[in-house]
Amino acid sequence: MIHWEAHACLPLHPGADFSPLDRLREAGVHYVSVNVGMDMNPVAQILPVLAGYRARLVAHPERYRLVASVAEIHEAASAGVLAVGFDLEGALPLLGQPEMVALYRDLGVRQIHLAYNRNNPVADGCHDVERGLTPLGRRMVGAVNAAGVLMDCSHTGRRCSLDIMAASSQPVVFSHANPLALVDHGRNVSDEQIRACAATGGVVCVSGVSVFLGTSTPTAGDVARHAAYVADLVGVQHVGIGLDIGFGQPGLDDRPPGNHDPAYWWPREAGYGGSLEGIRYAPVETWRLLAGALRQAGMNPAEIAGVMGGNMLRVAGRVWHRP
Ligand SMILES: [Zn+2]
Repeated sequence: MIHWEAHACLPLHPGADFSPLDRLREAGVHYVSVNVGMDMNPVAQILPVLAGYRARLVAHPERYRLVASVAEIHEAASAGVLAVGFDLEGALPLLGQPEMVALYRDLGVRQIHLAYNRNNPVADGCHDVERGLTPLGRRMVGAVNAAGVLMDCSHTGRRCSLDIMAASSQPVVFSHANPLALVDHGRNVSDEQIRACAATGGVVCVSGVSVFLGTSTPTAGDVARHAAYVADLVGVQHVGIGLDIGFGQPGLDDRPPGNHDPAYWWPREAGYGGSLEGIRYAPVETWRLLAGALRQAGMNPAEIAGVMGGNMLRVAGRVWHRP
């Protein structure tokens, strides 16, 4: 049984401490998708982060393995090492060039969404004016499909996400998103979006972030409650886990260079208080408690195995291929 953590954030700095990944492994995680950049981060920041992270993984084969396939995840799990893939949050690092998707894939990026909270020339963010997927965005979806990268709609505008799911030839995921029906927050996803995701064969991975769960102290029970809602709506085979833990490290400045304005990316009026400072994450130990919490929510062992990783494994098995 593989436990799949669909999204985690280390400091976006080449020197980031990787010990949080060891804690995830100790809590039972077998694969983790680690963020390497968002729309607010210039390529001049993202490339050094990729280089630093890749070097760290290569330097510790006894702990980590950068994987490109489901088979490699199983091999890593058998060897007792953590399988790692990277994800990109937004299309600005693609510099308007669809061929960049395959380049990032070759560097280890296995999952990408096209906008981070705000609109860009490719797609809409969930905290901005709704336009829908742009013509360039359609080409980007085609490039993501062709490159064998997971198409992710987290942080994307409602209408634009529906456009992406209609345009994608492959299953689409929400790697970290919660049901709007349970918590009315602009980052959460509507029943219509959840149904559209399931119709692609995809998975909605529930996050462990306080404001999206509607609690100040997120627990495994909160995550299980949101997972059960998605399961009841579209079937348990479309539910996964992406706790979205942000492992901040004091003293390591990973802010984008220049005039970075947190209130633009996390608008006060959208319920963030103008920054992420008030956000709380479900603890790493949630992974130890999750099976019990999902059982309490009414799931049987096979369903729990699917939610904790089997469902994302199925989607990745279909999507990740090298042309
Ligand atoms: Zn995110």
